[in-house]
Amino acid sequence: MLTSKEIRSLFLQFFESKGHKIVPSAPLVIKNDPTLMFTNAGMNQFKDLFLGNAPVKYPRIANSQKCLRVSGKHNDLEEVGIDTYHHTMFEMLGNWSFGDYFKKEAIEWAWELLTDVYKLPKDRLYVTVFGGDEAEGLAFDHEAAEYWSAHISKDRILSGSKRDNFWEMGDTGPCGPCSEIHIDLRPDDEREIKDGKELVNAGHPQVIEIWNLVFMEFNRKANGSLEKLPARHVDTGMGFERLTMALQGKTSNYDTDIFQPLIKKIEQHTGIAYKSNENTDIAMRVIADHVRAVAFAIADGQLPSNTGAGYVIRRILRRAIRYAYSSLNIQSPFIYTLVEVLAAEMGDFFPEIRESAQFVARVIREEEQTFIKTIDSGLNRLEEVIRNTQGKVVDGEKLFELYDTYGFPLDLTTLILRERGYSADQEGFNREMQRQKERSRAAAELLAGDWVEIRNGGDRFVGYDTTELETEVARFRKVETKDKTFFQIALVDTPFYPEGGGQVGDTGMLIFGDECIEVYDTKKENGIILHLTHSLPEDITLPVKAIVNVEKRKATARNHSATHLLHYALRQVLGTHVEQKGSLVAPDYLRFDFSHFAKMTDDELVKVENLVNQLILDNIPLNEYREIDMEAALEMGAIALFGEKYGERVRAIKFGPSIELCGGTHVASTGAIGLLKITQESAIAAGVRRIEAVTGLGFLKVFREQNDLLTALKGLLKNPKDPISALQNVIEDRQTLQKKVENYARQEVELLFEKLSDEVKRSDTPILAERVPIDAAQVKDLAFRLKQRFPKGCFALGYVTADKPGIAIAVGDEALKMGINAGAIVKEVASFIRGGGGGQPHFATAGGSDLNGLETALKVAREKLAEGLVQ
Ligand code: ATP
Ligand code: MG
Repeated sequence: MLTSKEIRSLFLQFFESKGHKIVPSAPLVIKNDPTLMFTNAGMNQFKDLFLGNAPVKYPRIANSQKCLRVSGKHNDLEEVGIDTYHHTMFEMLGNWSFGDYFKKEAIEWAWELLTDVYKLPKDRLYVTVFGGDEAEGLAFDHEAAEYWSAHISKDRILSGSKRDNFWEMGDTGPCGPCSEIHIDLRPDDEREIKDGKELVNAGHPQVIEIWNLVFMEFNRKANGSLEKLPARHVDTGMGFERLTMALQGKTSNYDTDIFQPLIKKIEQHTGIAYKSNENTDIAMRVIADHVRAVAFAIADGQLPSNTGAGYVIRRILRRAIRYAYSSLNIQSPFIYTLVEVLAAEMGDFFPEIRESAQFVARVIREEEQTFIKTIDSGLNRLEEVIRNTQGKVVDGEKLFELYDTYGFPLDLTTLILRERGYSADQEGFNREMQRQKERSRAAAELLAGDWVEIRNGGDRFVGYDTTELETEVARFRKVETKDKTFFQIALVDTPFYPEGGGQVGDTGMLIFGDECIEVYDTKKENGIILHLTHSLPEDITLPVKAIVNVEKRKATARNHSATHLLHYALRQVLGTHVEQKGSLVAPDYLRFDFSHFAKMTDDELVKVENLVNQLILDNIPLNEYREIDMEAALEMGAIALFGEKYGERVRAIKFGPSIELCGGTHVASTGAIGLLKITQESAIAAGVRRIEAVTGLGFLKVFREQNDLLTALKGLLKNPKDPISALQNVIEDRQTLQKKVENYARQEVELLFEKLSDEVKRSDTPILAERVPIDAAQVKDLAFRLKQRFPKGCFALGYVTADKPGIAIAVGDEALKMGINAGAIVKEVASFIRGGGGGQPHFATAGGSDLNGLETALKVAREKLAEGLVQ
């Protein structure tokens, strides 16, 4: 039996023998394309080639691509684990022709590989071809059917609808008719009863699609219409896990050697056997699947977070944690231990998973810890909801809150409710869900118009050498979002740096004749550099002078070069486990995120700062290696980032000992940075620290602010020679005074206590109602002492603190027995001072706002107390 590793190698060898260049998988996370968050098919990384935006270097390419189908047009998440052949992350084996061979060869080679090399039984295979679509104006794919009939009998060539046989990456972009190969893995007796061809594309778990050959001919435009691409291409994708299942004689992807090591580890940990119960089986599959997606995404640089791609990753992991918790009774972190298994199994072909295994595991463990706590509090919340539910149906809003805030899926909540004799308002839940979807759709809606193309170009950046240039507009379009409209203009050549590699996009001006259009940002999409503007010039066909805002660019370059020095210094001081996890290079500051497991000490921070500033003062010149071979760069010791897509030719930036692969803009020598000051060090995720720093004029600004602060403080202290001891004296004096004041206050109370005691002794009734010249805290003290001394006494004390009247009533123990209630009386009299209050029968207070009513309040209090004593 072939192992999965052999199956993957055979694929690549086969296409290499047919003249294909083998390339590595692109990262899972996509950075430069607003229409797509994750790679969802092998073709994504070649989108520019299909659209004709980039030159074709190798007309034939093959690879195994990590894909993730959890959002957007291709979203399989809800199926995963329930069925046995859809994954979140899977490998897509693919071969491509860029304007080279077309349907004939694609079909011939697919057949040869499956039946000759892999020796799949021909009588289990079916193929489909595009049946045409009237609305799109497309005909039946006779050509493909014709080529297939050379290999397979006509009754196994099925015609498919647009849904199954017209492949599109997303709502817009390259697309075309496709031809799929399906396999029937059912046992012979079942096959005899029912012909496999009736089950093709019918959702049968053992009659499944394994390979899709797409014939790219069109570009789907924003208005929904199709436009012919400049050339015809082939794009194929075969599910590696499904192929392995077929070749290893299994009926579930999870029974192959790709997933078994993971499943085994879960069995060991839980003591539950796989295939002993449908519920626990699903949970095991979900975990085995999801840990791959999450681990690879983190290895590719995408940390779980609360927004965007990071949120999707967090949700996948939480889905796994939830299944582990509720179906397998795993209530402390476990999933992270599977990363080790993954690294061992897949590390040869995907070294990124092996190299970052430790980091990935830590991140997952921390996420598990947090979410398990959340589940616990969700269960508490559910208890509370049940307690507060009248009747036996829990309403949809509550269910949705549990789902949205605590990650409780409806089925889990329903299950718990059912056990408790309650039911769930499903419709209400769906309504809330729908509302949320509409809210987020409305927020994200972005309507890009079609490009107006004037001439070729739009992808050439010449800004390393110049910041000003005469050029022409290549294309432009209008983009509308919910609250703004803007324009994207691409120039034939441009000196504007598009946002990327952490560095912000350039700003500046485009001058058409005597009209000046402001560029407020620059971005890159699908290889095209886009200048964002609020308006268009009157005549966009005029030659244009593109002028970058140089001051901003220089300030940004200082921070970018400083980021490299900082990265180097951190690795020197903390160790080589420090890896860049993200960065932001702006004109006014820089931010650098890196893996490190402890808070940096003050000493470490000083060391790092010193080292960076030493490198700055050494004024090391920049060595820029443009267009060197990736291998040569790595040999030089250049640091590459995981999750970054590099071509074969790269740019390396060297300042003395610091060498990085980088496309950003830099200073000519380090002296231009000025100085660097770290302004903050903090944690942003498990095992990830963040440093913020300033350089150049930003340094001066921070320095001035600190200096101004110090001058102001000194001024307040009357400019002493030694401000620190001067301030210390002030603090000490204050403490001494405070103590004295407290003493006096105590004495005051003491005197008052004696005086009032005498009054009580002299009067006929032990009732006292009067205003006292002390504050609220002292009054309480006084009241307690009085009622202790006179158990039969009742006391109403009026006082004023910060111009606000207050009243305190205290009742001695004996008087209490007669039913006098301080709380009730205080409530009654509080209205005279326009206030409110309360307390206990023996002591209560009220605060108010009307000083004029205080006398009346006391008078009435005295009457009430007297009434109480008489009864
Ligand atoms: P299906 O109809 O089974 O969901 P698809 O039409 O979405 O497949 P394609 O977009 O054509 O699939 O992708 C090409 C190949 O990738 C498929 O033939 C299949 O082998 C594999 N594949 C697609 N989605 C998944 C997935 N979620 N998990 C594993 N393999 C997949
Ligand atoms: Mg699908």
